[in-house]
Amino acid sequence: MIVQNHISLKEFNTFGFESTASYFASVTSECELVEAVVYAREKDLKLLPLGGGSNILVPAAVENALVMHINIPGIETKKAGSEIELVLGAGESWHDTVEWTVNHGLSGIEAMALIPGQVGAAPVQNIGAYGTELKDVLKSVRAYDTKENQFVELSNNECHFSYRDSLFKRNPGRYLITSVCLLLSSSSELSEVKYGGLNQYLQDQGITHPKLQDIFNSVCALRRSKLPDPIEIGNAGSFFKNPIISGSHLQTLKEKWPNLVAYPEGESHHKLAAGWLIDQCGWKGQKFGNVGVYSKQALVLINCGDGSLVELMELAEHIKKSVYQNFSVHLEIEPQLFA
Ligand code: FAD
Ligand code: NAP
Repeated sequence: MIVQNHISLKEFNTFGFESTASYFASVTSECELVEAVVYAREKDLKLLPLGGGSNILVPAAVENALVMHINIPGIETKKAGSEIELVLGAGESWHDTVEWTVNHGLSGIEAMALIPGQVGAAPVQNIGAYGTELKDVLKSVRAYDTKENQFVELSNNECHFSYRDSLFKRNPGRYLITSVCLLLSSSSELSEVKYGGLNQYLQDQGITHPKLQDIFNSVCALRRSKLPDPIEIGNAGSFFKNPIISGSHLQTLKEKWPNLVAYPEGESHHKLAAGWLIDQCGWKGQKFGNVGVYSKQALVLINCGDGSLVELMELAEHIKKSVYQNFSVHLEIEPQLFA
């Protein structure tokens, strides 16, 4: 395990912000990971686990911390009754894994194609897209618990998953995830597609009984048409979580905004599409210094070139303020501050 000093994080965050890490180590095994933890302890440094950098907000300098790029590889399958267990190293690419499962006829994660980043970060915000969430297929997570100084195996329940949230997101830096076990199905029966946009796309292609490969291809095509590729335009996907409001709040809003987009969430609550709220406030396509709001999806904030986290957070504050003024709804930022 080698610790490097003064490493640029520009290539390690999909916003492409300029940033320097005082201490940086890439670990490729559990042994190296423990060595890095010991190093950080000795130097009194905080631990900052890093995957593909597609859900983080990076300040200009990351000091007093060891950035630990977790690159542990591995993909293993085991038969578990009618299902297949897939054990994945934290360093595997999420999208390549999805493609691999589709090629091997395994269903369960095909709707989460093209989500950037590594497997190890997937449980952190319980990644989700088109009605599927990681929690629907996750059996367990193996991680090094830096509080108890030991490896732990956490079951699905113990990960306390909720909408774009988990035990890991609520305890930043405590758990260093080394592998993830998924339970996938080898049956050709797929769950029903619930998302209107995806259904419409399948219909437009003349696909009435979508197979695994059809869902994968359609999700990839839809996402490529709507979302900016971080290689071309810096971004971290959705910048805000979709807010959850009460039934009475929804009723009040519907009187003023009859076209308001809302989906039932549990028994008594409703999820609003944050992108729609931001769009109504006139932010879609707006530039703010060197950052801005993406022209095809108002939920995605972008780096227009030489942007910085300071500018981005200023823009986020303006957006939050106008959404609150119009809808009395608080928007919560989805990516995590990397500091
Ligand atoms: P990073 O950004 O490197 O890290 C994210 C957080 O996890 C950080 O707090 C980090 O410290 C922690 N972390 C990383 N690795 C580990 C580890 N091994 N152990 C412990 N903690 C760790 N998200 C969705 O949910 N759904 C989407 O559809 C989606 N679409 C996106 C589209 C685009 C274009 C972009 C840019 C992002 C999108 N995202 C989406 C957000 C992001 O891709 C996911 O959250 C992804 O899981 C982040 O993975 P990463 O490896 O890049 O994590
Ligand atoms: P979309 O299909 O245009 O839908 C807009 C919003 O409405 C989404 O945020 C989605 O919520 C919600 N929605 C739509 N149909 C729904 C249904 N039947 N039931 C419940 N909620 C519904 O969204 P999009 O922007 O093109 O994104 C497609 C999918 O990819 C979404 O699931 C989105 O979350 C995911 N995505 C996530 C990120 C990220 O960084 N987190 C980035 C890009 C795309 P949900 O977001 O809760 O699904």
